[in-house]
Amino acid sequence: MTVLDDRPVVPVPTSSRQWAFVDRVTGKARIATCMPGCESDHSGDMRTPTFPEDIWCEVLAADVHMPVNTSGYAEDFRVLGVKLSMIPFSRVPAERVPHAVVEVVDDHWMDGLDPDGLATVISTLEQRVQTLRSTHARLVAIRAQHGYGPTA
Ligand SMILES: [Zn+2]
Repeated sequence: MTVLDDRPVVPVPTSSRQWAFVDRVTGKARIATCMPGCESDHSGDMRTPTFPEDIWCEVLAADVHMPVNTSGYAEDFRVLGVKLSMIPFSRVPAERVPHAVVEVVDDHWMDGLDPDGLATVISTLEQRVQTLRSTHARLVAIRAQHGYGPTA
C-alpha cells in the first residue's frame, strides 16, 4: 500500500488565466477562462484554432494505491483518486463550473460532483471508515481470543 498525498492544502488563487483562440468548429474568436488554481498545461489549448470542449482545467491530488485482488493475486490499484475539474465549454452545464471528480478505483469515476455531491461521498466514506474501524476492533478481539497477536 502506498500513501503519497500528505501535501498541505494550498490557498486557491483568486486570479484565472485567460486566452483568446479561434473555435475550430465555428471559426469564431472565443475567450477561455481557466479555473482558479488550475494546474493544467494549456499550451496546447492556446494553439489556435482549437476544439473548445478539449479545454480541461484540473487540480490533481497525489495518488494512493492499494493492493486489490481481481485475478487471483493482489495488484496495486489507484483508489479514491480525487481532482477538481472544470471544462469551460462542456456540453454538460454542471461541468462548466468547478466540480470534483472521485475515482473509486482505477478508471472507475464518479463525475460532476457539486459541493453537495462531494459532501455525500465524504459522508458515505466516513461511515464506511467507521465500519472498517469496528471491523478492525472485532478482528483484533477475535484474534486475541484465539491466541493470535494483532499482526500475526
Ligand atoms: Zn485551466
